[in-house]
Amino acid sequence: MHNNHTIALALAHSTALGIMTVMRTVLYSLLMVGLVACASKPAPPLETVSAPQQAAAPAPRAADNFQLDMLNAVVWSRTSAESEAVHLQTYETARRTLDAALADRTWTAATEQTGDFSRLPPAIVVDVDDTVLDTTDYMVERARVGDAFSKASWNAYVQLENAPPVPGALKYLQYAASKGVTVFYVSNREVQVPGFKDEVEPTRRNLAKLGFPNTSDAKTILFRDNARGWKDKSPRRAEIAKTHRIVQMVGDNLYDLIDIPNATRESRDTAVESRLDWLGTRWFVLPNPMYGSWESVITQSASGSDARRLKLESIGVPSALADVIANGGFER
Ligand SMILES: [Mg+2]
Repeated sequence: MHNNHTIALALAHSTALGIMTVMRTVLYSLLMVGLVACASKPAPPLETVSAPQQAAAPAPRAADNFQLDMLNAVVWSRTSAESEAVHLQTYETARRTLDAALADRTWTAATEQTGDFSRLPPAIVVDVDDTVLDTTDYMVERARVGDAFSKASWNAYVQLENAPPVPGALKYLQYAASKGVTVFYVSNREVQVPGFKDEVEPTRRNLAKLGFPNTSDAKTILFRDNARGWKDKSPRRAEIAKTHRIVQMVGDNLYDLIDIPNATRESRDTAVESRLDWLGTRWFVLPNPMYGSWESVITQSASGSDARRLKLESIGVPSALADVIANGGFER
């Protein structure tokens, strides 16, 4: 823990130094411009003099970069052998279980699967972000600029089409494809919405370049589409279940497996505990300490220090103290 704190402080410090250097350069330039202007012209009105000072308003302090709250999570996800191990372990377990899933025609992984599905061809449903594609590049970019997730920056990131594969995903899905399984990519990346670029084709190309199966067209790519009522994932799983027997599902978010309306921490736990025999056989959950519904069930729509306070309260810190700590203080 001590080392992690030191790293976090050092990073915050170096970021602050960087900002100070930039500010110093800007102020020096403004000063020089001002001096040259003063030497050749009469003194401008006071209002004009104060304008450059307003332009050089203080940059955000490093302590205000709330994206750094997830630094340990991003470093763990991106660099640790433990992260690689748990992803490989999950996908290898899924691969080893797949033959049994295919042989048992009463087997389904989807609560949306109803009626007689014993003769339907098999399918696997996977999420995309941080399930088959590693999006930590985006998290690193957010930490560097000190900004939270935004649709605009995310949409621009998707256009890069350069997310690497999550360890183990490719081997598992290629094995499944070799057994005649169709892979469906069910993601909350969005079909084109006004003001933003399309996310379906860039994602399809990203997946296809890496060798993921069923990516020669977008028929198996089911993204969020409000026009079709596809906000949450359950309607999309129901759509797939009409034509396929969903044998396994993989995701880094509980809602990649089951929707829980008006979720609370308790109802989320219950959804998991009540399907213990599905875990590691039909449902495969990958770790994501960076973001997810586990976080939003606590913070709701709050951000910044309000989100920090709610997180502190969620682990038992009394409200008044949580407020102090969330704003940079400590228990005294
Ligand atoms: Mg995901």
